Amino acid sequence: MLGGGLSGIAAALTLAEGGLTDVTLLERGATLGGLAGSFERDGHFYPLGYHHILHRDRALLYFLERIGALSDVRWRRIRMHFHLDGEAYDLGRVAGFLRYPMSLPDKLRFARLMVRAFVRKDWSAWEDRSAAELVDRLAGPGVRLAIFERLTRLKFELPCAEVSGAWLGARLHHREGSAPLGYIPRANWTKVLCDGLARLLNEAGVRVRLRTRVTRLQTADGRITAAEGESGERLTGDIFVSTIPTEIYRGLLPEESTPGLEQIRYSALLSVVCATRQKVPTTAYWTNLATLDRAAGAIFLLTELNPTIGRPGDTCINFVTHLGGRDRPLFQETDEQLMERYRDDYKAVFGVELDPFWTHIARVPMYSPVFGRRYRNPPIRSGTWRNVWFAGNYRTFPSIVSTGTALGSGVETGAALLAELGRRTGLPEAIARFRPKAMIRG
Ligand SMILES: Cc1cc2nc3c(=O)[nH]c(=O)nc-3n(C[C@H](O)[C@H](O)[C@H](O)COP(=O)(O)OP(=O)(O)OC[C@H]3O[C@@H](n4cnc5c(N)ncnc54)[C@H](O)[C@@H]3O)c2cc1C
Repeated sequence: MLGGGLSGIAAALTLAEGGLTDVTLLERGATLGGLAGSFERDGHFYPLGYHHILHRDRALLYFLERIGALSDVRWRRIRMHFHLDGEAYDLGRVAGFLRYPMSLPDKLRFARLMVRAFVRKDWSAWEDRSAAELVDRLAGPGVRLAIFERLTRLKFELPCAEVSGAWLGARLHHREGSAPLGYIPRANWTKVLCDGLARLLNEAGVRVRLRTRVTRLQTADGRITAAEGESGERLTGDIFVSTIPTEIYRGLLPEESTPGLEQIRYSALLSVVCATRQKVPTTAYWTNLATLDRAAGAIFLLTELNPTIGRPGDTCINFVTHLGGRDRPLFQETDEQLMERYRDDYKAVFGVELDPFWTHIARVPMYSPVFGRRYRNPPIRSGTWRNVWFAGNYRTFPSIVSTGTALGSGVETGAALLAELGRRTGLPEAIARFRPKAMIRG
């Protein structure tokens, strides 16, 4: 298994629980979890950037139940603000929605679009069509210009015309801004998840090798024969599952020519988590900086979702910027330059200075595939190498990119691989059947 993010963990677990006795997972980091990893400050753990549990993320809920953590999850409705031209609008509330600079007929069309997205689960008919076509057809250009052109730029630095309609439809279906979001009190839930999954891997007999960056893949007779680590060690294997970003995988194997892989481009992400004891002049968990003139795309108040994350009395703030690619100048700036920009953003949005007493900066060069208009999932296995399989969020389009979709992709690939070997797992069915007993508010 190449990669110990959630998709690699789920694939390894599926294979080991399906009866394979010799499963090894190679992860370059010091811990499992990848993008869902954590960092520590004074004995408290924090996510690399905002992470909330989506109520429709069934694979995530299933695995939280398996590790005994689902009953600890609490659900809250959060406030999401649109900050536009110096004003904050809460589109989830009637007053904020009515004030938003968009005509009344467009507001009605927007509301109709949201209802349609809520009831429609499958958006695959919108593959090969753009988000602009989707919004124009279901709500009109006025709604696109007032809201969605801003959102696709915040997410991919692209206009709606270049973003997939299927992706946007699926994203609206998840209602991230209006449905209750989950968290675990007095903990960072991604750490609880990763620790619990590490325990399951151990129980299933998976060998986990951390701090093992794969730098070469050796091939012979149309198969990969071994992975080579940074220190030169050679790890042989019969079957390889790649869950690392496709750009890294292709760098290791330039001869790989499976259709669809070459076109995948990754967005980059900057995420700064910091703590303050100052009073924060907003109750919004999520503020989108929709004027598009700031370095940050969004500011999250992590303590608004989970008031008990970190040290009592601290307020945790998270600045996030999605970039079209890691070549953007902002991605190369020093920590000091970046922090200065984010403090400027804070002042411009909330009208007061921010003086954090610690900051943690994460630069993610490959965050998510850019789901452009023509995005298609690559196949589940390599067309070039007979013993190579793929899993990860680059295969879960048009669904949103989440912890649950990563876990689901790992399970799907593990199950397909087992089937090829004449074995069966009931995991995909167990996940599809899974319904949480209750959603406790908190
Ligand atoms: C800031 C932020 C906010 C998010 N918010 C949410 C949220 O609110 N809710 C939600 O559900 N999801 C959220 N997500 C998304 C979620 O965390 C990811 O979609 C998911 O964790 C991706 O898992 P993965 O296994 O597909 O990829 P990754 O986590 O990228 O896993 C790939 C792994 O491969 C390893 N690797 C790469 N190259 C090599 C190599 N050469 N050798 C060995 N190992 C290698 C990496 O270290 C990594 O561990 C967020 C992500 C971020 C970054």
